[in-house]
Amino acid sequence: VVISELELAWRRTRGDVIAVTGTNGKSTTVTLIHELLKAGGHQSVLAGNIGIALSDEVESVDEDGVLVVECSSFQLERIMDFHPRVAAVLNIAPDHLDRYDSFESYVVAKHNLLRNQLPGDLFVYPADDDRLEEWARVGVARTTRFSAGIAKDVSAWVEDGKLMRTNGAEVETVCPVSVLRLIGQHNLLNITAALAAISPWKVPVERVTEVLGRFEALPHRAVCVPTDDGRLWIDDSKATNVHAASATLGGVDGPVVLLVGGSDKDEDYAPLAGFADRIRGVLCFGAEAERLQATLESSIACETFGRMIDALERAKEIAVPGDTILLSPACASFDEFSGFAERGEVFADWVRRNAGVLA
Ligand code: ADP
Repeated sequence: VVISELELAWRRTRGDVIAVTGTNGKSTTVTLIHELLKAGGHQSVLAGNIGIALSDEVESVDEDGVLVVECSSFQLERIMDFHPRVAAVLNIAPDHLDRYDSFESYVVAKHNLLRNQLPGDLFVYPADDDRLEEWARVGVARTTRFSAGIAKDVSAWVEDGKLMRTNGAEVETVCPVSVLRLIGQHNLLNITAALAAISPWKVPVERVTEVLGRFEALPHRAVCVPTDDGRLWIDDSKATNVHAASATLGGVDGPVVLLVGGSDKDEDYAPLAGFADRIRGVLCFGAEAERLQATLESSIACETFGRMIDALERAKEIAVPGDTILLSPACASFDEFSGFAERGEVFADWVRRNAGVLA
């Protein structure tokens, strides 16, 4: 029998596990959960797909502590008894179709997160997702939901520009959305998901407000590279699928010069054409450049390039003051880089050298 490292390490856990999966938003959400628990005075340790092996951390958490574990579909494929007290599924959209024979097989791997949950456990999911609603119906765990708007049976939501939470008995205003440093509708989902996931633990509302008021985007997740050229250069290298790139595009004002490309995960790029009204041009690079262009050129002006740097040179020529230049590649990076982090660093370095850094 082959088991995953997640399963092996889990067998030695003493405290509770909060496990988070989803196509996008995992790292942001687990980091937020970890910060919120710590602010509430709880022992919390972050591990899993975020880049910290659970086996390295598992023994540092005692019975009263919490392990906050980011789980990828790959890690969930080979679990047996892995059993999170709280399991959160953020969203499910096409990704990794190069590894799975169909979207449904990818979905099945994600569903593994819930398979060992018991009636006293909690399943956390978004309020508007029919598939996850069905998972909640067939599962035995208690459930709670989250929403970036107003919805029924949620423990965290947004109403009249304010972030709200409830423990069932009492409703609390956490803070106005305007004070959050994370931007975009997708981050409101990540934030409300984090609040729902920590609902079994006591974290006073003032502590939550304080954490959310200072929590910034993680590196390469829609991070602005400061320049003095009047243009906004954004490194969203972690947007490695169409669902992620669409989330970021939905949150930026046009005109946008969009840099997309990299290596293939067998995805359909057509949804990106839905943002044509705010895109000045699409600069496609790397192994997927031609397929991207073939999909998008009927609705948006497209050009193709070999390397990302060549696309960046072109971006500098066509973007005018007021434009946003967005690297939200919608592809993996392995044709040209060691990973999304290197791709983002090369982007930011180039921007700093060529678009002028603020003093
Ligand atoms: P993951 O760990 O699942 O890759 P991250 O938190 O690292 O997720 O975010 C990666 C990218 O996914 C972000 O740069 C953003 O483009 C997009 N994203 C983040 N949260 C969401 C969400 N809730 N829904 C859709 N896209 C998201």
